[in-house]
Amino acid sequence: MAVVENGMKITHASTLNNVSVLTDLAHTEREATVALIVHLAEFDSRGLYAGLGFQSTWAYCMEVLRLSEDATCNRIEAARMVRKYPIVLDMLETGTLSPTTARLLAKRLTDENHEALLAEASGKSKRQVEELLARHFPESDVRASVRRVSGSGAGPVAAQEPPAPAPALAESQSRMDSGSPSRASSSPTASAPALSAAPRPVVRSLAPERYEIRFTASAETCEKLRLAQDLLGHAVPSGDLAQVFDRALDVLVQELVKRKFAVTERPRPNRGQSDDSRNIPADVKRTVFVKDRGSCAFVSPSGRRCGSRRFLEFHHVEPYGAGGKPTAHNIQLRCGVHNRYEAELFYGPGKRCEGGDQVREAEAVYRCAVEFTRPGTGERSRAYESTA
Ligand SMILES: [Zn+2]
Repeated sequence: MAVVENGMKITHASTLNNVSVLTDLAHTEREATVALIVHLAEFDSRGLYAGLGFQSTWAYCMEVLRLSEDATCNRIEAARMVRKYPIVLDMLETGTLSPTTARLLAKRLTDENHEALLAEASGKSKRQVEELLARHFPESDVRASVRRVSGSGAGPVAAQEPPAPAPALAESQSRMDSGSPSRASSSPTASAPALSAAPRPVVRSLAPERYEIRFTASAETCEKLRLAQDLLGHAVPSGDLAQVFDRALDVLVQELVKRKFAVTERPRPNRGQSDDSRNIPADVKRTVFVKDRGSCAFVSPSGRRCGSRRFLEFHHVEPYGAGGKPTAHNIQLRCGVHNRYEAELFYGPGKRCEGGDQVREAEAVYRCAVEFTRPGTGERSRAYESTA
């Protein structure tokens, strides 16, 4: 019945005028996902895949259910957690835990810690759960390394199903070339077939204030890196990659902020601009950029701040067409979507005052702007994280 009803809703989506329909649909999707997880738990524990000609639940999900690799891993891991810790089912049902965050936690949950950890992870995003785990289970710094990879694609490691039960294979694979710190707890899935190695995140929390960064570079970049190490021979005798990159990024962001906002050693105040000019002076742009933390400052009627750092533009709070001035008080940052949205509210659909003031590459510039505001403190990373 619900399926027919939802099918009709989708058929008539063009007449969507009550967004609560989306909430209902998301709820229905979550219910279906939880039901799938519950049934997978049974399917997996009874080894029903074997009689169907498959080696694992993983293979069955990928080939028959046509789930993506990530969806498969998340659902199987969540299914095994549900069997071990029934509270996980309640959390999945209410949406305070997602299959993604469940999978992150799976490696660390024990009979002793699961209640506290799950409570702490309740309602948190993937990234917040990663931070939480890094805080509770700090890992050693990874050993800096430059190694040759085969092929030109060089993306994340391709998915491969483990051939046989192999406890915590994904874990050992992901640590293979990074110093292999020991694990604090054993994997709760040790008795079950391990899941495949997921694509590795590019930036991963290791411990508070410590991150592993991994990427693939060209031979040319590698050559530049060696050159920089040589040139820094006195300042960084060890040639430590983290220090070399930090210095390189300092130079880059200083250069970017100069270029994007015409930053000078002694910023000049706005001079000789007529009162009705639409042009936003550079000193106002700098002030606004830092004030709005380099992110869209649009706040919805329900109080949600957008916070996007992409395709930012300078927005007149009191519209230019209504006499709004380009002052730090009247200018705020908006992403393209919200600048357009508010312009249409004022000027009408499809219309907009000419001359958008786009802020390019806001992310890089923002790091720099904050650093310039609070030089030499650890505030930079914290302020940056707070808007993520
Ligand atoms: Zn926005």
